[in-house]
Amino acid sequence: LNERLTGVFDRITGRGALSEKDVEEALREVRVALLEADVALPVVKDFIARAKTAATGEDVIRAVKPADQVIKIVYDGLVDMLGGEEPVPLNTNATPPAVVLMAGLQGSGKTTTSAKLALRLSKFDKKKVMMASLDTRRPAAMEQLATLGQQIEVATLPIVAGESAVQITRRALQSAKLQGFDVLILDTAGRITLDEGLMNEVAEVAQIAKPVETLLVADSLTGQDAVRTAAAFHERLPLTGLVLTRADGDGRGGAMLSMRAVTGLPIKYLGAGEKVDALDVFDARRVAGRILGQGDIVALVEKAAGELDQAKAEKMARKLAKGQFDLDDLAGQLNQMKKMGGLQGIMGLLPGVAKLKNQMAENNVSDKMIDRQLAVINSMTKAERKKPDLLNASRKKRVAKGAGVEVQDINRLLKQHRQMADMVKSLSKGGGKNLQKMASM
Ligand code: GDP
Ligand code: MG
Repeated sequence: LNERLTGVFDRITGRGALSEKDVEEALREVRVALLEADVALPVVKDFIARAKTAATGEDVIRAVKPADQVIKIVYDGLVDMLGGEEPVPLNTNATPPAVVLMAGLQGSGKTTTSAKLALRLSKFDKKKVMMASLDTRRPAAMEQLATLGQQIEVATLPIVAGESAVQITRRALQSAKLQGFDVLILDTAGRITLDEGLMNEVAEVAQIAKPVETLLVADSLTGQDAVRTAAAFHERLPLTGLVLTRADGDGRGGAMLSMRAVTGLPIKYLGAGEKVDALDVFDARRVAGRILGQGDIVALVEKAAGELDQAKAEKMARKLAKGQFDLDDLAGQLNQMKKMGGLQGIMGLLPGVAKLKNQMAENNVSDKMIDRQLAVINSMTKAERKKPDLLNASRKKRVAKGAGVEVQDINRLLKQHRQMADMVKSLSKGGGKNLQKMASM
């Protein structure tokens, strides 16, 4: 995937403006690259459609270098497809023991991952962890977990010959409860292929153990097979997340991209080797960067985003110079403030805003409030944002409901907007110079 994408970006680097043809050509290459990386076709189609909308939508600013822009669009799309920017932490909030159930095919890495997870929870999170093997079919599998437990100094349930998976589950639950363990990791048996017996067994164990997390462990090297496996398990088990193993051996990333899109489940960890400490918290940004194959992709993206902001700011400056300032402009300013490290930083910079700054301080304006204000503006129709006067009592009520706030919050926002709009109008009479500066800061 890397090489092909790098090629696309090289070709559009250095051209003046990004034409629709450029976008289509680039996205065609991206499409082939994703398919070659073994990403499922419907996922690719959806991705390309969304990237195309973004690339031809309003947000594209001609002044920014085209290659940077396409990279940013594709990167954002990948991050989105991989589940967004924020890693989803493992949930262990439950009446102890919080049960984590590991499911998956044989050889996918369940036992290894159980130990990796146990090590992480006990070492970093200072949890008291117990592991139990439910793999009754292969005695060696129970020994394997016990050995790993000794190695990482985590307790394992003593092995009793002749018990069924369900019996072991009951004993593990009771024992973990009595001995005050915080977390109980259940390592299940796998089969080479999916079969009913296996599914019934895991489903029954899940019913008894009521896990807070049911993780499907899948081998990322098996590509589309891993995706099918995930879908099949997801039908039978209330899965809460995915662990993709052998990420250390996968340069293509195709399984990761499809897996999340097809199941809708968050990828929580990546297995990155055979050692017990080779478990990474899944970070969509890092994986997206790696897939794009540009070492400094994050820096590049930040630069492109900066240029986009700059170009947007200039666009706004031109509007402001004409004395116009609607609620969309206010939303733009609020977003800008958030990015620039909050209100305190930016307000001090604006000319002639000291008074407003004090007012806002009096009104206890915080970054949280910025988010609330943005939610209010987002709940308005386009027409209302352009012409705030349209907002009569019933419309205000609707907006308040949509944004989850009170009508008085809407009134406060409108008052603030009016003040800013008035200020813009009066400043624009002074020739607009100040405003050019103000908007681009
Ligand atoms: P299980 O049958 O699902 O319990 O799979 P195991 O945990 O026994 O793992 C099968 C093999 O895969 C072992 O040799 C592991 O060392 C190896 N393995 C597991 N996870 C990873 C990983 O993330 N990277 C690599 N390279 N090997 C792994
Ligand atoms: Mg095993």
